[in-house]
Amino acid sequence: MTTDERRQVRLRANERCEYCQMRQQDEAWSRFHVEHIIPRKHKGGDDLGNLGLCCQHCNLHKGSNLSGFDPSTGLMTRLFHPREDVWGEHFSVVGLEILGCTAIGRTTVEVLDMNSVKRMSFRQALREAGDLK
Ligand SMILES: [Zn+2]
Repeated sequence: MTTDERRQVRLRANERCEYCQMRQQDEAWSRFHVEHIIPRKHKGGDDLGNLGLCCQHCNLHKGSNLSGFDPSTGLMTRLFHPREDVWGEHFSVVGLEILGCTAIGRTTVEVLDMNSVKRMSFRQALREAGDLK
């Protein structure tokens, strides 16, 4: 992966985590990762179609997972794919919470632990500072 490709991924994502939508500028101490949406261990390539921008929290929870169990149905479901899926079709934001609107959304929220106490507290702090967009 070249420096230029990393730059392209950051620009395409508008410097936001493509999973939880956190802005890089709000986590300036932790450079967001350019990640393999389909991990290398599952034969995911280095092409731009398989790269996404991911905050540290989401990337550490995603790891090499491709799927999880939908908390509503218990059915195994694939995770959100930033290149193939539209964020607004799978997630919504209510208050400080990111809600999954579909099986893919619910499963991704669950596996990436998007509404952990720590993440909710962080969003609360950003909101109080007037910075949560
Ligand atoms: Zn994230």
